[in-house]
Amino acid sequence: MERKYQDIIDKLSLKQKASLVTGKDFWQTRDILEANIPSAFLSDGPHGVRRQAAAADHLGLNASIPATCYPTAATMANSWDPELGEGLGERLGQEAAVQKVNVLLGPGMNMKRSPLCGRNFEYFSEDPYLAGKMAAGYVRGIQSNGISACIKHFACNDQEENRMTLDSVLDERTFREIYLTAFEIAVKEGGTKSIMSSYNLINGVYANENEHLLCDILRKEWGYDGLVVTDWGGNNDSVLSLKCGNQLEMPGNPDRPDEIIKAIEEGTLEESVLDDNVDKLLEIIFDTMENGVNKAPEKFDVEEHHAFAQKCAEESAVLLKNNGILPLDNQKKVAFIGDFLYLPRYQGAGSSIVNPTKLDNTADLLKGCELNVLGAARGFNRYGKKSKKLHNEAIKLAEQADVVVLYLGLDEVTEAEGLDRQNLHLENNQLELVKDIKALGKDVVVVLSCGSAVEIPFIDDCDALLHCYLNGQAGAQATLNILMGKVNPSGKLSETYPLKLEDVASSDNFPSHTRTIEYREAYGIGYRYFEKANVLVRFPFGFGLSYTSFEYSNLEINKDGVSFDITNVGDREGKEIAQLYVGLEISEVIRPLKELKGFAKVHLEPGETKRVNIAFDDKTFRYFNTLTNKWEIEGGNYDIYIGSSSDNILLKGNLEIEGTNAMPPYDKRSLPNYAVGNLRNIPDEEFAALLGHPIPDGALPFYKKNRMVIDYNTTFRELRYSKRWIGRLVGKAIPWFVKVLRKFGNRVLANTLVMGVVHQPMRGMSRFSQGGLRMSQLDGLIAIFNGHFFKGLHHFFKEGRKYKRLAKEEKKAEEAKKKELEAAPKAEEPVKEAELAAEQPKVEEVVVNEENVALEAEQPLEENEVVEEAPVEEPVAEEAPVEEAAEEIPAEEAPVEEVKENE
Ligand code: BGC
Repeated sequence: MERKYQDIIDKLSLKQKASLVTGKDFWQTRDILEANIPSAFLSDGPHGVRRQAAAADHLGLNASIPATCYPTAATMANSWDPELGEGLGERLGQEAAVQKVNVLLGPGMNMKRSPLCGRNFEYFSEDPYLAGKMAAGYVRGIQSNGISACIKHFACNDQEENRMTLDSVLDERTFREIYLTAFEIAVKEGGTKSIMSSYNLINGVYANENEHLLCDILRKEWGYDGLVVTDWGGNNDSVLSLKCGNQLEMPGNPDRPDEIIKAIEEGTLEESVLDDNVDKLLEIIFDTMENGVNKAPEKFDVEEHHAFAQKCAEESAVLLKNNGILPLDNQKKVAFIGDFLYLPRYQGAGSSIVNPTKLDNTADLLKGCELNVLGAARGFNRYGKKSKKLHNEAIKLAEQADVVVLYLGLDEVTEAEGLDRQNLHLENNQLELVKDIKALGKDVVVVLSCGSAVEIPFIDDCDALLHCYLNGQAGAQATLNILMGKVNPSGKLSETYPLKLEDVASSDNFPSHTRTIEYREAYGIGYRYFEKANVLVRFPFGFGLSYTSFEYSNLEINKDGVSFDITNVGDREGKEIAQLYVGLEISEVIRPLKELKGFAKVHLEPGETKRVNIAFDDKTFRYFNTLTNKWEIEGGNYDIYIGSSSDNILLKGNLEIEGTNAMPPYDKRSLPNYAVGNLRNIPDEEFAALLGHPIPDGALPFYKKNRMVIDYNTTFRELRYSKRWIGRLVGKAIPWFVKVLRKFGNRVLANTLVMGVVHQPMRGMSRFSQGGLRMSQLDGLIAIFNGHFFKGLHHFFKEGRKYKRLAKEEKKAEEAKKKELEAAPKAEEPVKEAELAAEQPKVEEVVVNEENVALEAEQPLEENEVVEEAPVEEPVAEEAPVEEAAEEIPAEEAPVEEVKENE
């Protein structure tokens, strides 16, 4: 392979090269001044820039420089408008470039396998085609600023609990068709320059060292030539990951260079592999520095970006029910009720959290609005605390109104990175309020704010339902504009709303509390399952209403695609999202009834007709054949459906397609449940037959009852099974502390502990510490947990002293080198880190809204009020009780060195 930066690589020592492939700190790559290599800055995130100026973390704890908070991906996907996504990406990328960010860590694009996944608000859809098209739009937009997007988390990071050690077990066809297709589109059509490998394992191998994923599929099949970066703290084996082209480990980990050098010296890694990886890394650094960061404008237009965020929110809201009450009649007296009027739910929690440039809230906006507003009341506490006072105030207000608009939703800590939701419920105090207000005989409009599917038991108690998802800092005005009829809603659901959680196919296997998570339902994600198994849902995939109506006619189908007419038959202008689905009824290949293969969003004036064309592409008829290991096409008479949603098909035709004549990948009779869509409780033999190998054992590796050998990948929670009491104490104390925090209402801290500690594997302690705790010191701790207290302690301190000494020597050498450099005549000046920090966008330009920042900081305090009444959630599943009788294995049994072998 010819290397673009060979001349630079030639001048670097082995140590310098090895040190480049791990970060310099939490967010930056390493600079090497004498080689004119600058640091590149990586920053979250998917719906707004989170560049941290001071203290760094990946949990969304410390404040970042103000940036526009756009609607989250789950919201934007409801616009079904990749161009809008591109527009968002352009602005997001510009803000990142202004803030000197080289690589923007987003968009997130994992599949919504279960509505419980805590990070669904950050992801686009249950459908890979829609998710891929939206993500590609974002990527194009972000990268138009010369910087790099970074699609994440590659791949199958669909459960948050135990995300750093969980093994996603799934068959190859499901993997390709459902879980990789979106990434493929973002790579090929979006041209992303960076990808983040996920924390989890896929079929037994960590994603960041997964040859099949990173080499065979990503590089060879898709022709990807960009950077792969680990998720933060997600590096498992430094050498393996490098061999698989996972160039960069983040955050910085001083052990990685040593591990790489050792492998090269021992002959298990070729230096040329390191050179190839360094070459790719340098490409991203120089490219984004020259074309992005160095050319970035001084500032961005805060107002224009805010207005664009509002447009995105308007395009993404989904009207789910309307018996004619919306848009609101300004002659009628309207009462506005809900906690979310005062502080909107506009984004999720975790690493994606944005410090907004400003934040609209409905209560303030109502003051100047054209409606006949009777008044506003809080009505309930969003965290579930019952309050008669709030409830009664709301009822009193409602009694005087003609229409009541109720702002309901999920609170800030329920949808969060690092943990999954426990159920799909809204808090009872909200449900009771809807019921009681409806009992007054009032017209009720519900405005819903949350980032993923919830159960909607109150559907009959409301006359209209507008779902705004998490619609960013300008969402409040967008929502009002829709309620008032200034904007005609046009969003459609990018995920199915089930009647209840138990109806979802994955709910038999989600969440998993073992070491593996089995994707037994295979293709049975979202509408693919509900349709095939004929399960009723609350709202189908692709569903959304408008204030006008549309008619479809004149379908024509040819080998290149479909065309048809849509007419706006109502009396308002509006937008319709038409969807193309394809199915094959008589088929040797097991498949859903139909799958989304295209869509178009069309704007129409009243009475206007437009001809819509949707082209077929390489994905329209393909399926992945595990026998030929290729994409194939089954010949047959395909059903072509055009619908306004997945369950409202308005035009239908057929097209004969010639296949590639490959042998079907399996005999359908050996997979009877999969064949008919009976995807619940798939028997072991059938799942094993689909996998093509025995089902891996996900049980914790106990060597005897409730005792396991602690290794690098044991999580803090699993320490409760360690041999030594000290480990068991730590393993039980942390989840216990989480419980206490929840009980006393401090859910933010509880979440942070779950996210950052409970499911953290031992190696994470070291990988995140940026040198504070070296892997060899960790060996000492692990030995302690494994019953070798004194040996472990001795090892821990010995290694600590060693690294202290080495650090001193290194510092000395660095200083000497600096002096030498200062004395030498200067070549071209690289961009130095200090300059970058100094050049951070002027805060006055991006308008820090102190009020908002203060409000966010206050949230935990507010939660403290919840003390008694709030139902205590338990995110940590109960496991078999630990037997307290500690049988000691003789101390000699497993010396420190042996501990390593257990990795
Ligand atoms: C998240 C990533 C994020 C990274 C840096 C990780 O915990 O999974 O999505 O980009 O932290 O904040």
